This record gives sequence, C-alpha cells and structure tokens, in this order.
Amino acid sequence: MITFPQRLLDGYRTFTTERLPTEQSRYRELSVRGQSPEVMVIGCCDSRVSPEVIFDAGPGELFVVRNIANLVPVYQPDSGAHGVSAALEYAVSVLRVKHIVILGHAQCGGIRAFVDKIAPLSPGDFIGKWMAMFVKPGEIVEQRRHETNQDFVTRIEKAAVFRSLENLMTFPFVRARVECGELLLHGAYFGVAEGSLFVLDRATNQFKSAREATAS
Ligand SMILES: [Zn+2]
Repeated sequence: MITFPQRLLDGYRTFTTERLPTEQSRYRELSVRGQSPEVMVIGCCDSRVSPEVIFDAGPGELFVVRNIANLVPVYQPDSGAHGVSAALEYAVSVLRVKHIVILGHAQCGGIRAFVDKIAPLSPGDFIGKWMAMFVKPGEIVEQRRHETNQDFVTRIEKAAVFRSLENLMTFPFVRARVECGELLLHGAYFGVAEGSLFVLDRATNQFKSAREATAS
C-alpha cells in the first residue's frame, strides 16, 4: 500500500499533464547544461510564502534556501556543518548568482516565538538556538513604548531581513562580489493576507510596495 500523501500524487499528476508539457524542453535543456539561476532567494519555511509561487518562477530560475525566519548566520568558518552557509557558498562561488533576495514575511511563526519568548524557545531547543543568532551580543530587543504588539512583531520581521543582509556581508566571498558590483543584495517582505510584496529601498532603508518599485 502506498502511503505517500495523496495530495502530492494528485499534484504530481496535474504537473505532468498541465505544466510539464509546456516546460519539458526547458527541463531537458537544464538537465544537459546544468542550472544557472541568476537569483538566490533566502526565505522562511512558512508554507504560505513560497518564492517560486510569489515570483512566478519556472524551473532553473531561483536557487532557494528556506529556514525558520529567513535568517542568514554570520560567517563562521569553524568545524561545524552550516547548511545556509554551504548553500550560500554554492550559489555565490559556483553558480555565481547576480542577486540574493532575503524574503521576510508577515505573521512569521519564528519571529512570533522569538518576540513572545514562547515554547519551544528555551535555550535548549533548536528554534531557540536558531533565533538567538538574530540578536547580537549585548543587544536588547524589546517592545517600544507606544508600540502595539502587532507593530513590534512587524518591526522585528523586517529587522530579520536587515540582519540577514548585514550577516551576508560577513561572508568574504559575498563581500568581494558585492564590492566589485557583480552581486546585488536585496530585501523583500511578503504580506500573506493580501499577497502584497514590499521591496527594500536601500537608499532610504524603507520597504516600498513592489508596484511602486522601479526596475534598477
Ligand atoms: Zn516565517
């Protein structure tokens, strides 16, 4: 008896009858010459925030890493195994992507857990340890006076994008390619309810609606 989820088998059937016929040649081409995506997206595991869906991307277009709260760790060349860093190294040094997008989002469970300090966020838990890297040593993250809890959460969701962008630059191979103009770093924020996308304007450090953002 096959216990593979029926929803996935149904979805695969739809893929083979609807999407694959139009993309078959693309898949064949990619299998022969390999992938060469221009964009890496680092997003959250959240099932509502799929980069391929949001950006209407086909096969071979996006190199995606997803983790809790779309965090990039600081460069840490120790004896440990670092999944995000390995993916980053592959994207930047092997695939030579031209853009890295940090995709944050509203109603992020990881950020909510971090803000509310709820279980499983004890220092011994995986999420607790993972989210701890969001905070720099000595840094205090707390709700401001006159700030609603919702505004606080939104601010921290966006701060996670800024922190990841900052941490990206601690990787020598990222910094080198950014400084010579071969790699551009971007921030974005997805509003789940409206399906709205906000793009970070690096000049003002403000998120602007993607509809207003000009191509550059
Ligand atoms: Zn999230």
